[in-house]
Amino acid sequence: MTDTVPPLGPSPLSTGDPQIRVDAARTLIAAALQPLTQTEVVPLDQALGRVLGVDVISPIDVPAHDNSAMDGFAFRGSELRQDADSAWRIASLVMAGDPSPATPPPGECVRIMTGAVMPAGLDTVVPLELCREAGTQVGERVLLAPGRLKPGENRRLQGEDLSLGRPALARGRILRPADLGLAASLGLTELTVVRRLRVALFSTGNELREPGQPLDPGCIYDSNRSSLSAALRRLGVQVIDLGLVADDPAALQATLERAVCEADVVLTSGGVSMGDADYTRDLLARMGEVAFWKVAMRPGRPFAFGPLRRAEPGAPPAWLFALPGNPVAALVTFHAFAQEALWRLAGATAAPVPRLTARSVAPIRKRPGRTEYQRAIVEPAPDGGWQVRVTGSQGAGILRSMSEANALLVLGHDQGSVAAGEPVEVWLFDGLV
Ligand code: AMP
Ligand code: MG
Repeated sequence: MTDTVPPLGPSPLSTGDPQIRVDAARTLIAAALQPLTQTEVVPLDQALGRVLGVDVISPIDVPAHDNSAMDGFAFRGSELRQDADSAWRIASLVMAGDPSPATPPPGECVRIMTGAVMPAGLDTVVPLELCREAGTQVGERVLLAPGRLKPGENRRLQGEDLSLGRPALARGRILRPADLGLAASLGLTELTVVRRLRVALFSTGNELREPGQPLDPGCIYDSNRSSLSAALRRLGVQVIDLGLVADDPAALQATLERAVCEADVVLTSGGVSMGDADYTRDLLARMGEVAFWKVAMRPGRPFAFGPLRRAEPGAPPAWLFALPGNPVAALVTFHAFAQEALWRLAGATAAPVPRLTARSVAPIRKRPGRTEYQRAIVEPAPDGGWQVRVTGSQGAGILRSMSEANALLVLGHDQGSVAAGEPVEVWLFDGLV
């Protein structure tokens, strides 16, 4: 299979530096992207976190037979008495894994273990602990007081989990542990997944140095590549690390050209996003249709996004996400714009980030007219539910505020100040995805 992407037509993205709302930017990004369609087959134990490439249709019924949900005795539900004890004799014993057992005559039951196949014609199981008298051997008696059980109870029906020929897992699903278990319950050993998205990552700035190298006067260590690379790896994409790029037209051009050749997405931080140097804008204008947005948000205003053309005719573009250089702004814009877009490009159908509400511990001052992302800690409230408080200094360069947080507290574009105790939206960094 190949990626099918229409040729780059007129861009929906204005390149005139407009002020833009966060939600408008997200909508434009989502509308521009074409999901990957190339798939590959991987063993089940390699499929965690991958995007399912095709619907999985169940090749069998799960369970394959009616079976017992309890250790107890199987009998005909019609034999339950309402007025007096019901009584049966044990005709046989059946364990999980035994082949289909014989049907006992009326008035007799089968001692049955959890998961064992129900004898044909028997539809009800009384758990051991419910019996007034519970024999253990063939010929012994089982007694049950009236009113303890209804016909049909404690029996699992054939196909009640998954039925033959019905979709078991839908294409576009990000595969979780339960999904892999479900695939295994169908007897599958491999799954067809969308091929991994390739993301080229580099940092720009003359002042940046590699950790482990001496820190020259006036310089700082590159932290964005570490945090963004980790954020990308969490999404299960393949990261192509293109290192540090100086604020130099030739170096930037060479790196971008390489990135476009090798990757589906080009993710940068620093300078490029500002587009403040004319050469950057000229270069990107020649390479594609990149929009420079002043997004109405804090932190992380400068942001550029758009397609970069690839040399081969008909090839889909590489998508540039140029994030601001400030370490907090880089991560926040990644979460606000890039993460969902990358899932979309990777063929995932649902946004996997749960957005929850928690009560703000303290008042928060906020002007309507921009979206704000504050670094915050979500914790259990003393009176139940969840509460949220912001972490220390919220400066866009103070990475510690992000490191100490377990969530972003998101205040919407039109929202004003928040009173203590008011519910606010939070995006948890970690979840049972
Ligand atoms: P810029 O967007 O290039 O103007 O950068 C804004 C601020 O973020 C400056 O203080 C930069 O030094 C800093 N910065 C840019 N890139 C990085 C990076 N990769 N790691 C740490 N800080 C950065
Ligand atoms: Mg810079």
